[in-house]
Amino acid sequence: MGSKVKGRHSKAIHGGLDPEKHHGAVSVPIYQTSTFAFPTAEEGAARFAGTSQGPIYTRLGNPTVAALEECVARLEGGCGAIGTATGMAAVSTVFLALLRKGDHVVGTHPLYGPSRGLLEKYFSRLGVTSTFVAAPDAAGLGAAIRPETRMVFVETPANPSLDLVDLDAAARAAHRTGVPLVVDNTFASPHLQRPIEHGADIVLHSMTKALNGHSDVVAGIVVAREPKHLVALTDVARSFGLTMDPHQAWLVLRGIRSLGMRVERAQANALTLAAWLESHAAIEWLRYPGLPSHPQYELAKRQMDGPGSVISFELRGGVEAGRLLMDSVRVITLAVSLGGIESLIEHPASMTHSKVPTGEQLRQGITPGLVRLAVGCEDVEDLRADLEQALAVVAAAQPSAAR
Ligand SMILES: *Cc1c(COP(=O)(O)O)cnc(C)c1O
Repeated sequence: MGSKVKGRHSKAIHGGLDPEKHHGAVSVPIYQTSTFAFPTAEEGAARFAGTSQGPIYTRLGNPTVAALEECVARLEGGCGAIGTATGMAAVSTVFLALLRKGDHVVGTHPLYGPSRGLLEKYFSRLGVTSTFVAAPDAAGLGAAIRPETRMVFVETPANPSLDLVDLDAAARAAHRTGVPLVVDNTFASPHLQRPIEHGADIVLHSMTKALNGHSDVVAGIVVAREPKHLVALTDVARSFGLTMDPHQAWLVLRGIRSLGMRVERAQANALTLAAWLESHAAIEWLRYPGLPSHPQYELAKRQMDGPGSVISFELRGGVEAGRLLMDSVRVITLAVSLGGIESLIEHPASMTHSKVPTGEQLRQGITPGLVRLAVGCEDVEDLRADLEQALAVVAAAQPSAAR
């Protein structure tokens, strides 16, 4: 039914919804079952042989999960998708499907820490090597591709530097030698960026973030542009047991219906706060792709439908001032994650990116004083007032640093 609509909001609201299949239910029911009865032995055999499409066993597929997969595949413009237990299960599915001994990966930095960790800690054991180039360095990305490169893996906007990867350029560089381009699109969500439109072959999400949007579930998904990748990804996810639970899928489906409204409101809040903070005396520097001060502001306008809702900044007083700010907020919550309806603040150098060695952190733009603010959907005046009172606490403690 999602195929009858064209708009981004409508696709999120209707994707995977087909009341006729479910006694008229307007919300896709939760098929809370591990296994499915076959009407006949012949039909059971046909389902295993793939000549009949009915369900078999929930690790191999479930109607609630399938509705969510259809919805996200439509939003991203892919041929299909496979739901996974977490975002990291989505990353694992892609790596296991594409990489074997002797292969090489080109990635951008910064990357979500555990994604890079999988390559450097685990896939290195299996004989896979990797090279990482700075997200904005399109020429460097092309130059890093070798004859044995089998995957280009990028994240844009990158976390927490908010550097962008030029997706058209990355796709051209990868495809010149027939290498698939994989994009972790968690930060932007398909409401703001659809990498397949720029040539990506595989797109993945931590649906824990904006797609679910309510900070109450962990989940992931992988979307493929072409059936050949979808078949390989699906087989890996089912074989390694990385697939999704129907109750989890239902929660994400419930969240995804309001994706566009949440993303647009949080983004409007972020734009207001970023513009205000940037000119605040206590701020040393601020990064937000929606402000002209962002070095890739033009690229953001070209490849995204909006700059999103994450802001990175450093206070004049550096790491001590940043810590005090995080300890002093009362509405904004000190917690990792992003893309939820509530605003969260965190310190990448000692939290999400603490496993990255200090020298490498600096190379990736993760300075000791960097504070990451994931803006939510509250009333923007409440958020501004909260930051104002917290900045006043910082100023009182460090009069020279915060003025
Ligand atoms: C959170 C996140 C992940 C991992 O997702 P989980 O659901 O926590 O496993 C991967 N990539 C990005 C960009 C993320 O923000």
